[in-house]
Amino acid sequence: MSQTDPRESTGTPHSGEGGVHSGGNRGAFFLSGGTETTTPVAEGLGLLVSLQEIDREVLALRVLKDELPAKIAAVRDRLDQAEAEQAAARGALDQMGRDHRDREAKLEETKAHIGRLKNRTGEIKTNTAYFAHLKEIESAEKQRTAVEDEILGLMEKIEGAEKELSAHDAKVTEEIAGFEGRRRELEVEYAHVDGEVEEKTKAREKLAGSLDPVLLSRYEIIRVQMRGTAVVPARNATCAGCRMRLPPQLFNQVREGRSIIDCPHCHRILYWNPSA
Ligand SMILES: [Zn+2]
Repeated sequence: MSQTDPRESTGTPHSGEGGVHSGGNRGAFFLSGGTETTTPVAEGLGLLVSLQEIDREVLALRVLKDELPAKIAAVRDRLDQAEAEQAAARGALDQMGRDHRDREAKLEETKAHIGRLKNRTGEIKTNTAYFAHLKEIESAEKQRTAVEDEILGLMEKIEGAEKELSAHDAKVTEEIAGFEGRRRELEVEYAHVDGEVEEKTKAREKLAGSLDPVLLSRYEIIRVQMRGTAVVPARNATCAGCRMRLPPQLFNQVREGRSIIDCPHCHRILYWNPSA
């Protein structure tokens, strides 16, 4: 094996010296924007840049896909509101039903009371007791009338509340249809994402398979540490990742493309793209 583990050649990746590693030589690869002096290391770096581009695209697609549940929830809002109003209307109607049954029971009780009073009329002996008895019946009759009025009022309210509930039911049905339609539209809009992720993942696997495994694993480690960008161009003797100046000798080594060079500041892998 002619390849050297980059970690062995520079100690830790964070040596602060600008690590110089021997790159993998895996044959001739095409480097976009390459020069006539392209080296195998530069070719490997070119593949790594392509890999990074695919990784960025996949990440962007995943971020896009993650938005879908929130978008569906947002279009559900109107349906949720209609359902809440429907539940409130049903609750109010149920309460009126309970009040109605309660008043009906009260009416039966009052009627029975009047009946009992009237049955006792024949047993009354004195005028004074008789007048008191009539007053009691009169009072019970008044109560019965009051309860009957209450029942009539409640029945009217119930009729109105039933109409209101029907309107809420219709509104919910309409919102369900609207929501389903909007959800299907969104799902169609996002349907391409899974396919694209799958396609790009396959392309990535192919590309990763053609890369020097040591370089690939180095890339993966830095990608995690640097949250995405592991390979950056060196422009005007500056690291495009952290914007820090590179020592002239190190910059020259990047341009030569004979070894894998880390930025001494952020430890990203540097490459030279003359057309950038
Ligand atoms: Zn840097």
